[in-house]
Amino acid sequence: MAVVRTTLFRALLIAGAIAAASACDAGEPALPTPHASPGSVAEEREGTAGRPAAARPAPGTRVVLLGTGTPDFDPDRSGPATAVISGGRAYVVDLGPGVVRRAAAAHRAGLAALDPARIHHAFVTHLHSDHTAGYADLIVTPALRRSVPLEVYGPPGIEQMTRHLLAAFDRDRAIRSKAPYARGLPGYRVTAHEIAPGPIFEDENVRVTAFPVPHGEWQSAFGYRFDAADRSIVISGDTTAARSIVEACDRCDVLVHEVYRPPDPGHAPQPLRDYHAAYHTSVAQLAKIAAEARPGLLVLTHQLLFRASEATLMEELRAGYDGPVAFGNDLDVY
Ligand SMILES: [Zn+2]
Ligand SMILES: [Zn+2]
Repeated sequence: MAVVRTTLFRALLIAGAIAAASACDAGEPALPTPHASPGSVAEEREGTAGRPAAARPAPGTRVVLLGTGTPDFDPDRSGPATAVISGGRAYVVDLGPGVVRRAAAAHRAGLAALDPARIHHAFVTHLHSDHTAGYADLIVTPALRRSVPLEVYGPPGIEQMTRHLLAAFDRDRAIRSKAPYARGLPGYRVTAHEIAPGPIFEDENVRVTAFPVPHGEWQSAFGYRFDAADRSIVISGDTTAARSIVEACDRCDVLVHEVYRPPDPGHAPQPLRDYHAAYHTSVAQLAKIAAEARPGLLVLTHQLLFRASEATLMEELRAGYDGPVAFGNDLDVY
């Protein structure tokens, strides 16, 4: 099945100035509609035809891959971060390095909700550095333009990390607060919420549920399920093969899942192979999970390929799963 998606890197080239001019705080973009199967652009247009503007539903809920990387510093793959956009608001899961610049790129391409200063809600799956090294960036870089405190949800330890990061930038805040544009700098404030499995957040757009996932030695690692009026989206975070993913998705619309391709025995020592087996989901395991969870679309992220190619990974996935699947890249929209 073909997957309809928009790559914002391409969209940047064609949308450029027009999209930037059309993006405003209240609106959503003038991009080619970035939706994924099973929905279609034609259906969406039909659904809103003839309705007065005031009665139109909020733009469809979308998933934007801000960063599909891993601890490797691949310049084409920013650190792990995935945005859910619903009702014109962004909810960002994980804060890998590069998250602010990638959000700014999405904003420039027309996704108004991803103006970094308008990101007020973040959800951290676990405290590995590849998922949190962009946290300080999200706190301080948009702080001068953010009008409300940042709300961050995450496992035990997120409160301590937040406190330490704020302390590290004490002098910066003190000096900037004297600038004529500072206006009290509410954007420098962060509220960290330490969560447990279950419902953790709800507003007029989404309901967010955290569920535990096994990730090596981490005591607390979570996946998140987002329920919006029009779509359900599950984001695995980093995890070994987990029953909780199957249960959380259970025919969800989009499952964004990490994956690794076990290196060939000759190419990696056994301890490295054991490490990845304890922390991540192999392509064969993911095929079984997806076949059972039956998402409307499976999106691969945080792909650890070792020496294998994308084609090899997809072929191995296809051996056990025949549903819709996309190999995610930074700034893809589903
Ligand atoms: Zn990771
Ligand atoms: Zn991790």
